[in-house]
Amino acid sequence: MSKKRLIKNNLTLWIFLLGVVLATSVVWQTTRWVYRDALATLVKVGGERVTLYTSTLREALSRYAYLPYVLSQNADVGILLKTSFNLELVNNYLQSLNYEAGSEALYVMNSVGETLAASNWQKPLSFVGKNYGFRPYFTDAKAGQKGQFFAIGVTTGQPGYFMSHPVWQDGQFLGAAVVKVDLTPLQDDWREGGETVLVSDANGVLFLASQNQWKYRTLTRLSEGQRNLILAGRQYGNQPLEQLPLETVESLAEGRRIVRYENTFYLMLSRPLADLNWQLHHVVPLAPVREQAQAVAAIGTVLSLLILALGLYARERRQKQISRRKAHQAEAVQEMNLRLQEEIAERSRTENVLRETQAELVQAGKLAALGHMAAGIVHELNQPISAIRTHAASGRLLLDRNDTGKVREILSSVTRMTKHMATITAQLKTFAHKTPKLEGEVVLQDCLDGALAMTAPLLTEFGVSVVKEIPDKPLILNGDLARVKQVLVNLIRNAVDAMHDCEQRQLQIHISVQNQDVDISLHDSGIGISAQDMEELFTPFFTTKGVGEGMGLGLSISYRIIADLGGTIRAQNLETGGAQFSVRLPLKKE
Ligand code: ADP
Repeated sequence: MSKKRLIKNNLTLWIFLLGVVLATSVVWQTTRWVYRDALATLVKVGGERVTLYTSTLREALSRYAYLPYVLSQNADVGILLKTSFNLELVNNYLQSLNYEAGSEALYVMNSVGETLAASNWQKPLSFVGKNYGFRPYFTDAKAGQKGQFFAIGVTTGQPGYFMSHPVWQDGQFLGAAVVKVDLTPLQDDWREGGETVLVSDANGVLFLASQNQWKYRTLTRLSEGQRNLILAGRQYGNQPLEQLPLETVESLAEGRRIVRYENTFYLMLSRPLADLNWQLHHVVPLAPVREQAQAVAAIGTVLSLLILALGLYARERRQKQISRRKAHQAEAVQEMNLRLQEEIAERSRTENVLRETQAELVQAGKLAALGHMAAGIVHELNQPISAIRTHAASGRLLLDRNDTGKVREILSSVTRMTKHMATITAQLKTFAHKTPKLEGEVVLQDCLDGALAMTAPLLTEFGVSVVKEIPDKPLILNGDLARVKQVLVNLIRNAVDAMHDCEQRQLQIHISVQNQDVDISLHDSGIGISAQDMEELFTPFFTTKGVGEGMGLGLSISYRIIADLGGTIRAQNLETGGAQFSVRLPLKKE
């Protein structure tokens, strides 16, 4: 796998992990928030319910609170307690009052706790004759206080709330008037409401409970002392008073906690009823809150996963698009490369063909040049050779006649002709050997004068006027007079040749100094050079002249000499007509 791809994969992994962490934290926070919010609502609603239950409980109790007092103030009750008279009267009174008030039972106890009269005097489980002196509500009354006590009835086995009031006469404790209130209807109301409402006493015993399984259980473990005290007061009959397996999971605030009971979580709200030394508890299942939070967590998780999956899908898609684009680009580049390679191959093929053609052309050109040269040489040498032959024949005849004078003349002529032949072959030598570097120095003006002197007959013959513009100061060049002169002679001859058929025949010669060089220009009024010829001017044996008129060596030899002198030569046509040859040569360094 390439390094780039590895980095990309790692990046995807990091983005994925980051997404997971982010999504988890968002889901976690949202779930927490939802849980807290739902719990707060539950606490608020629960608190309102607790207030309602507390007030209904207080109302249920206070409805009967006046009865013991009313009885304690009744004269007949006093007489009964003091004299044991009026029993039937008091019994009937208690029965009718109880009926009217709607309490469970009304009864009167004497100073030792024995029940003298009771509203249920006619019932099988009548309190009459029973002694309840052990009950705290009696001892409280005996102590001169109002008593109140919740207990399971010793006689009836029915739980109830007992309220007592002492009966005093002339500073003497005669007994107590008691009302028993049945709280079962209240419990039934709570149960019907589907709510779990509990009331615990000072020992933590749940004596009122809307659900039976909570009833007569304790919130905390009872100590031995507490248990004995309860037994002594026979408060809860034979109930085992076992501790509820209630575990506090979290305490939210005073009177608010989350508890676990039989593997179910509840919110438990407790409100003390200080004067009664009781506590009212409202137990609400926490399941809806937890379910709500769980639902949010589930939805959040699914959404996060969906977003994450979408994100990854989008990224994957983008990556695919990029790699597809890159593949296309690579394909295009490859195609272009192929095309280039094909083009290169085509070009090299063309080049080869060209080179071959060129070679052929060069070969053809060489052969043509050779033919041309051969014709020229033949023409140039033929004449002197045949002349020499004729001279030799004549010489032999003249020798026979002993005409030595004539023989001498013929020999001189032969010598001249061989010199001419030597000149021709000497010119060819320029191409045969590399000319040694020219040494020595020469004055340009002298060379020009020499050249003009040599060509003077020609110039005169064709009526060519020469216009010169030459600096007076002698211009010294490296090289020898003969060669520089030869170049100038060649150029002057060509100019004259070019002006043969022209009416105006003028040759302008300009010499000027440019920095360390000297410029020599020869401008004629001739026919000029055709564009085609211009390219071949300096090629050996290139000539436009007929056989015998020119060998095509003048310019090529001149080119060679100028190059040897470290200069340049070029030709051009002028707009005013005619050709101009410009030679640039370096001046000798002083
Ligand atoms: P040649 O004079 O023997 O032909 P050169 O090498 O001296 O050989 O010249 C080559 C050719 O250049 C000539 O045949 C001619 O066509 C052309 N040429 C040279 N000088 C001139 C000029 N001044 N004007 C026109 N054509 C020229």
